[in-house]
Amino acid sequence: MAYSCELRCFSGCDGAWPVTRPLYTCPKCGGLLQVAHDLEALRDRSGPAWMKLFDERYRVSTWPYGSGVWGKREWVMPQVPDDIVVSTYEGGSNLFWAERHGRELGVRDLWVKLCGQSHSGSFKDLGMTVLVSVVRLALRDGLAVKAIACASTGDTSASLAAYGAAAGLPVVVLLPKGKVSSAQLVQPIAHGALVLGLDTDFDGCMHLVKQLAAENLVYLANSMNPLRLEGQKTVGIEIVQQFDWQVPDWIVLPSGNLGNAAALYQGFRMMKELGLISRYPRLAVAQAEAANPLYRAWTAGLRSVAPITAAPTQATAIQIGNPVSAPRALQALEAMNGVVEQASEEELCEAAARADRTGLYTCPHTAVGLAVLQKLVARGVVQPHERVICISTASGLKFTEFKVRYHERAIEGVRSSLANPPVFLPPDYGAVVDAIRERFG
Ligand SMILES: *Cc1c(COP(=O)(O)O)cnc(C)c1O
Ligand SMILES: [Zn+2]
Repeated sequence: MAYSCELRCFSGCDGAWPVTRPLYTCPKCGGLLQVAHDLEALRDRSGPAWMKLFDERYRVSTWPYGSGVWGKREWVMPQVPDDIVVSTYEGGSNLFWAERHGRELGVRDLWVKLCGQSHSGSFKDLGMTVLVSVVRLALRDGLAVKAIACASTGDTSASLAAYGAAAGLPVVVLLPKGKVSSAQLVQPIAHGALVLGLDTDFDGCMHLVKQLAAENLVYLANSMNPLRLEGQKTVGIEIVQQFDWQVPDWIVLPSGNLGNAAALYQGFRMMKELGLISRYPRLAVAQAEAANPLYRAWTAGLRSVAPITAAPTQATAIQIGNPVSAPRALQALEAMNGVVEQASEEELCEAAARADRTGLYTCPHTAVGLAVLQKLVARGVVQPHERVICISTASGLKFTEFKVRYHERAIEGVRSSLANPPVFLPPDYGAVVDAIRERFG
């Protein structure tokens, strides 16, 4: 069966374009694009037959099916041949049963989907494998650009640089100077990308890279490009698969540019349309209070998001004031009976520390999700018996400065109530024994 997909206008203008076309907005209305699949062709398999196929491929070693993304290739990007795929075997990440942390928060069935357990340390790999593979296909067919480019709050650039290097393709990244962690900064440096640190914020970088792409100097890898979302949508499918195709009650997702929220819904929508599931989980979008344009709009009952200037936050990857996928995320919230909640700096810092004490190692964004979950449980929106998945978007190992500063009580305005600084002692047996007695009695 010939499966296929193409670019179409998100708002429904007429027209369809090949996915290899360097097109980032609708030529008719200037709005967002989406990838539209031929669902009729995909109906050649029943829901259970798709589940069986996806289960057979899960984490196998046959290229490229062991990738959580390419194991679902017919639903993602069917026209990319095996030898064009650029993959690091992304996906297949652990669903951590947060038993102790759930008990503390008052939910009995809490799971954390560790999307940071990935090649470059964040969920961005799920989308980047698709985008870079399609660019490779387009280059083979004659696309002429100097490089693949993105504006980034740190993780997109790390991921793009890794996939670009794996495929031998040139990459340029635009970063807001001083606003990404040192791990995130050194990743594209190590992969040989051209790293431009600009004296602005993410929204300023985004403005410039869009201009470069409009001149066809570069190919745009930001998530306004819907190719990324096709890979990212597999996270929702994979979560359901990990529960033997049962749908959880809630998914909590820390969000900035709102592409991932849209992608999550796309995955669930395809599962429903193709007969794998019969209902959606509810979606809780979690924002940092410092960068909360969606929260402001949603709580005011508005169905469009007005841009703001995002204030500094420890959750640097979501310090975004003008989220490009806002219309897509609003659609997701409506379809999934969603809620939007925010977390302050104090709340997110304490949430990270509390989760770490139960064996997680949370990045500040995941902490925004966990802080928001705590509020939703307290308000009775999330019920104690419900199954909740919090999506962890990046590895805590990328955010060492954040954790060190918390435990040094060096984050302004944050109490660091769980600070656990090291105890420095002379190399003396008695002093060591005293320290153990003092801590553990
Ligand atoms: C990109 C990113 C987000 C936000 O995802 P959006 O799709 O922009 O909403 C959250 N957390 C981390 C760690 C990220 O890298
Ligand atoms: Zn349009």
